[in-house]
Amino acid sequence: MMNNIQRKFKELFGGQAAVYASPGRVNLIGEHTDYNEGFVLPGAIDKAMFLAIRPNGGKQVNVFSIDYDEMVTFLPSKEKLPEHWANYILGVVMELKETGAETGGFDCVFGGDIPLGAGLSSSAALESVFAFALNDLFGLGKSRAELARIGQLAEHHYAGVRCGIMDQFASLHGQAGQLIKLDCRSLGFERIPFDPQAAGYRLVLIDTMVKHSLASSEYNVRRQQCEAGVAVVRQKHPSVISLRDISPEMLDESKSLMEPIVFQRCQYVIEENIRLLRACDALQGNDLPTFGQMMTGSHEGLRHKFEVSCVELDFLADLATKTPGILGARMMGGGFGGCTINLVSAAAHDAFIEEATGNFEKQFGLKPKVYDVVISEGARKL
Ligand code: ADP
Ligand code: MG
Repeated sequence: MMNNIQRKFKELFGGQAAVYASPGRVNLIGEHTDYNEGFVLPGAIDKAMFLAIRPNGGKQVNVFSIDYDEMVTFLPSKEKLPEHWANYILGVVMELKETGAETGGFDCVFGGDIPLGAGLSSSAALESVFAFALNDLFGLGKSRAELARIGQLAEHHYAGVRCGIMDQFASLHGQAGQLIKLDCRSLGFERIPFDPQAAGYRLVLIDTMVKHSLASSEYNVRRQQCEAGVAVVRQKHPSVISLRDISPEMLDESKSLMEPIVFQRCQYVIEENIRLLRACDALQGNDLPTFGQMMTGSHEGLRHKFEVSCVELDFLADLATKTPGILGARMMGGGFGGCTINLVSAAAHDAFIEEATGNFEKQFGLKPKVYDVVISEGARKL
């Protein structure tokens, strides 16, 4: 990939360019906790966006996408571009400008090996590699956390996706063999060691290839239900701001005052945060089996209490749970489609993948894609 990009750069613009990379991410546990000011536990992966880039001394941006085989040229302004992909780059330039950080024009070629739209956050990798490279080349002096925020705002304003900050944060802060326990309230974080390969395990994603249209409307409903639960508990405990502040006991106390469905949604979020903290303790104690149980518990909660799973995800998670050598499995992402993430012993890996993809195809008529991932380094200059 890197050689391709450099070759293409030379062909289009001549000479040499600096090369940067920024990866996609997985989230091991902590789903629908971000907007409730809880924790998430992402890690950067060994699939990334690569960028060859050189300032051109002018104002114009010339950008070639290897994967779309398309060149786009623009003068940065708030006006969106007709090419969807180029808006992520425009967005990063414009959001940097909003903070007073001016970039000049540049020539560049980029491409990557993160599957698009599979939930591994190719969009955050794209924003992050540009934010990181522009910061470095133009001496903008931003921290990685500031660059993550720039990427998030680019996604909000130029791609129209109101995402949290986890994806960009993980892409920029990742380190090999370390997960990021990110506090979505303070944006403080702690690194948690995670090296399943060393213990004979592998992390593998299985892509259901479906995205049910319920996803965005149900997402909004879940957010409202969480807010409704907080409002009820706050009547007794005025200092409560979000589900983060509510213990299982406090929720129980207010159970009779809220709709059963609201109770159930809030209970999931509160339990998921507790599971995540236990999962981190398990990793600190080198206890992968307990970690895996927390992953599986997360899926059960998402399925039965938060109700954002779907038959395809449940099919894969059930199969994993029944297979010896699989420590944990859960749906990853907002739900209603996307991938499951599985912690699998190296010995069981191949047979499990064959069985899971074969059975899935028989049941649903689609062969899932499989992505083996390793927790790896975040944004960097190569
Ligand atoms: P994901 O879950 O992968 O982040 P999104 O829908 O948020 O899915 O982002 C995918 C979009 O990001 C693509 O439609 C494209 O516009 C842009 N993108 C991602 N990867 C690339 C790439 N390699 N080249 C060009 N654009 C890309
Ligand atoms: Mg995305």
